[in-house]
Amino acid sequence: MISIRGLTKSFRGAPVLRSIDLDIQDGEKVVVIGPSGTGKSTLLRSLNFLDVPDAGQITVGDLTVDAARASKSDILALRRRTGFVFQNYALFANKTAKENIIEALVTVQKRPRAEAEERALSVLTETGLAEKADSYPAALSGGQQQRVGIGRAMALGAEVLLFDEPTSALDPEWVGEVLDLMRRVAEKSQTMIIVTHEMQFAREIADRIVFMDGGKIVEAGPPKQIFDAPRDDRLRRFLKRVG
Ligand code: ATP
Ligand code: MG
Repeated sequence: MISIRGLTKSFRGAPVLRSIDLDIQDGEKVVVIGPSGTGKSTLLRSLNFLDVPDAGQITVGDLTVDAARASKSDILALRRRTGFVFQNYALFANKTAKENIIEALVTVQKRPRAEAEERALSVLTETGLAEKADSYPAALSGGQQQRVGIGRAMALGAEVLLFDEPTSALDPEWVGEVLDLMRRVAEKSQTMIIVTHEMQFAREIADRIVFMDGGKIVEAGPPKQIFDAPRDDRLRRFLKRVG
């Protein structure tokens, strides 16, 4: 289980996360929606200290980290339990698909190279990219690059996968294959937190939708409630705009 308590973050004095509380069950799929600049990425990034939160507690499984006094080893331990999928894939351009995944396993998890290589190949097979193992990112389509990005996160065997708008940098033709892969990941009872503007996909994959506005969780509930019976005015206006 993941538990977030009082998670707070400012950038140069401007509050971006205003004491976020959120509990996520094992295997739960939570989709975070909300207007631009509202703190969705900062929330995900704070969960593994890509952005360093100012205050709050983050629990992932048996590990609880207090943001205000997180040690280096706390942060490493948190990163081992969370896999991050970036909007722009963030692959190393000078490494092949396989090497990108091996690199993550060796540096983040200190796995022996031979074992990392075996794991990388098995994940590439799972993501339908076995024949692209030795291709460099530049030789892959946007959809394939993002599938490598997802494979890299899957390979870590993390307790939770964090997706920050995984399809929004893609040409429309590649969006479907990435969403399909995410559906397959979801079927394996993987805990997932997904920031996306793909509302149809959100409705279909989410156990719970979390609507953020102004650095706060304004409303949360099952997709049916959020999309068909929104209560808060800000959520209603947001849905009208994106709908
Ligand atoms: P979008 O839907 O556009 O991706 P978001 O909800 O993900 O928006 P964040 O990226 O979390 O929003 O940003 C929240 C606020 O924090 C914004 O006002 C943004 O400008 C600010 N911000 C984010 N990262 C930084 C940073 N590294 N330095 C300064 N300000 C930042
Ligand atoms: Mg964002």
